Formats: sequence, C-alpha cells, structure tokens
Amino acid sequence: MSILSQPYFHNEEAAYEFVESRLWRNGPICPRCKGTDRIGKMGGKSTRIGTYKCYACRKPFTVKVGTIFESSHIKLNLWLQAIFLIASSKKGISSNQLHRTLGVTLKSAWFMSHRIREAMRSDEFAPFGGNGGAVEVDETFIGHDKTIKPKGQKKGRGFHHKNKVLSLVDRDTGQARSFVVDDVKAKTLAAIVRANIRKEARLMTDESSAYTAVGREFAAHGFVSHMAGEYGRGEVHTNTIEGFFSVFKRGMKGVYQHCGHNHLHRYMAEYDFRYNNRIALGVDDQCRAYNLLAGVVGKRLTYETTR
Ligand SMILES: [Zn+2]
Repeated sequence: MSILSQPYFHNEEAAYEFVESRLWRNGPICPRCKGTDRIGKMGGKSTRIGTYKCYACRKPFTVKVGTIFESSHIKLNLWLQAIFLIASSKKGISSNQLHRTLGVTLKSAWFMSHRIREAMRSDEFAPFGGNGGAVEVDETFIGHDKTIKPKGQKKGRGFHHKNKVLSLVDRDTGQARSFVVDDVKAKTLAAIVRANIRKEARLMTDESSAYTAVGREFAAHGFVSHMAGEYGRGEVHTNTIEGFFSVFKRGMKGVYQHCGHNHLHRYMAEYDFRYNNRIALGVDDQCRAYNLLAGVVGKRLTYETTR
C-alpha cells in the first residue's frame, strides 16, 4: 500500500487523531496546567475538530497548542503531507513545489516550510566524540551573503562575500551538526569546536591554520593537506563531512536557490536533520517523518521571526 494513501493525509479528523497518538502517548495533556485527569473530548457540530476541555482550568485546547501548527489555518492533514514531503526529499523541496503540490498559496507554503524546518532543529547539545571517537570538522561557503558590503576588492572573488558554514560530523554516531558563522577566523571556529567536541576525541580537519591551536586541546588532531593534493591517510581524512556538504550544496543550488543569510541556519537544521535520520542509520522515510513530527512541540515560530 502506498504511504500516501494513509487517511491522515486526506482527512482532517484522522490527521488530528494521528498527531494526538504521536504527541500524547498517554492521552491528552492540558497545555496550561499539564493535567491529564480531568479532560474530556468536546463533541457537537459547532465544536472544532480535535477540541478537548480541561475541567481543572476550564479551558478548551487541541493538540496544536504549543506546536508549529498553532494558529495556522492550514488543515492538519496538509501539514502532514508537507512534513512527509520535506522529510523524504533528500535535497529538500522548494516552497514553490509545496505550493503546487499541496494547493496552498505560495506564502502559506513558504511559511509552512520554515516552520517545518524549525521542527527539524535539534535540541541535542551533547558534545560529539565521546569515547575518544573521530570527529571531522570542516567549513564551506555557499551563496552570497548580501549583508556583507564589498571592501574594495573585486566583486565575486574569494569567499569573503559568501555565507560561511562550519559543520562537525561524529564518525562513530554518524551525526552532523552545522553552524552558520560570520567568519572563518581561528577564534570563531575554535569556540564552536571547543563547545561541541569532547577533549578525548580525535579531531580530523584539513590543513587550515584555524584548527592548529585548538587541535592541540584534543587527544589527537589529524589533518590532510588538500593543497598538496592529499585526500587521506588511513583514518585521517574529511571524506565523511565532504559527503555531507555535497548533498547540502546540491540541494541549496538546485532547490533553494535564493536563501538569505538570516535564513541559512534553518536550512542547515534541515540538512542536519535528514543526515542524522538517514537510511544508512536505519531511519526510513516514514520513520524520519515521525521523528520530524516529534519535533513540532515547543517550536512556535511567528510570521515576524521568519521575515
Ligand atoms: Zn488544565
């Protein structure tokens, strides 16, 4: 049976029931008093779908309260379609495509995709490289950061005017974590490396001098000299992170052509999420969509913050 034939993609009531089953594993929870005992489902023709009432605080609520779906007029089954599409498209899916496929306005599609990206943002801050594993670190440049004014140099040369991203990949767990950075100076990169990688880890980078000093703080620091045409010596390489960057870059060029500097961190959260929930780690499309859905809680995003 096609995954797309699931009732929760087509019927709003089924969509509510499905989201409730995923977010309220032990029954409805009142978003105000967190109570679970004195809650009743509201019925009747004039009642909105999925409405419950907490008899402790006497207020109605739905499963959408406190999630990215709150105060959205888009039907919940369409949200689930969007979540599935974004979760299962390796390189991402444009707002234009969502607009055409879901039949919502372009503005709604754009807003939905930003909210869904917010749901993909990880709350995991535990440092990489526990047990002395290898962690690859590398930076890459993408698009044009229009917030940077050219300082007299020839337009389009070098990477000064580009958006800069620093990513880490823990080779043992297969997890990636990315940061949009203002510059690639040693001080900037070292602060992120220090905060996100355990000292017992083995750091793997290229020959960039930005990593030389901070590299000494770790159990080991292996680096390859890309300038000298070297791509690796045994475990000393950055091939894993380059694989991650290649999916991200193909997606950013092919799908999200115009991404402003102020939104880039959301796209990075999207690529991190799909990489961290990839098939090689045993996460299939459906499971990835479920994991995405679990992230909708506590990630409210207003129209103002996405502008
Ligand atoms: Zn309550």
